[in-house]
Amino acid sequence: MSQNNIHTQFHRFVSPDEKAELLGQKGTVLWMYGLSGSGKSTIAAAVERTLHDLGRYVVILDGDNFRHGLNSDLGFSDKDREENVRRVAEVAKMFASQGAIVIVSVITPKKVFRSSARQIVGSGFQGIYIKASFETCAKRDPKGLYAKVESGEIKQFTGKDSGFEEPEFAELIVDTETTEVMESAAQVIELLSMAS
Ligand code: ADP
Repeated sequence: MSQNNIHTQFHRFVSPDEKAELLGQKGTVLWMYGLSGSGKSTIAAAVERTLHDLGRYVVILDGDNFRHGLNSDLGFSDKDREENVRRVAEVAKMFASQGAIVIVSVITPKKVFRSSARQIVGSGFQGIYIKASFETCAKRDPKGLYAKVESGEIKQFTGKDSGFEEPEFAELIVDTETTEVMESAAQVIELLSMAS
C-alpha cells in the first residue's frame, strides 16, 4: 500500500495541550537503557509507584513484555533489535501524545538505536542510562540469563557476544552499583520535574 494513501489524523482529535491541562502533567518519555540486570525494571517500578501515589498517570513499556507480545516475532540480531526499539519508540510516542508519563525499559544497546528512539519520540524524550558493569549484572542475574549465557544456552547476549555502547551523552546516568533503588527513583523524578 502506498504511503501516499495514508492520511494521518491529528487535527480532529483533542490536542496534547488540552490533555496535558486535564491531567495536570506533560506527556514525557523516560527512556531507560542499560544491560540486562542493570536495574531498569526495578527503578521503573519504583518511579511508577511514587508518581502514581502522587496522582500522576504513568505507563510502563517494558522490553520483556513487548517481546512476549507485539514484538514476539523479533530476535536479537542488530536488525531485530533496531526494529524492537523502533516499535517501542512509536508506541511510547503515542502514549506521550495522550498525556502519559511513559517509562520505557529496554536495553537499547547501540547509540544509533538511542538516537533513533529520540528522533521518533521528539520533544519530551529523556534518555536515562541505568549503569552497572557486566560482572555486577552477571552476579545479580535476576532472570537466570547470565548463567544460561555462561553455559552457551543463550547467544547474541548484550555485553557478551552482542555489544553495548556506553553513551557519550545522557540526560541522566544512574549508577546502580553505588545508588540505592529509591535514590535512583528520586533522581529520575527530579529529572522529570526539571523537564516539565
Ligand atoms: P533490568 O530491568 O535492567 O534487566 P532488573 O530491574 O530486572 O534489571 O533487575 C535488577 C536486579 O538487580 C534486581 O534483582 C534488583 O533487586 C537488583 N539490584 C541490586 N541493587 C540494585 C540497585 N541499586 N538498583 C537497581 N537494582 C538493583
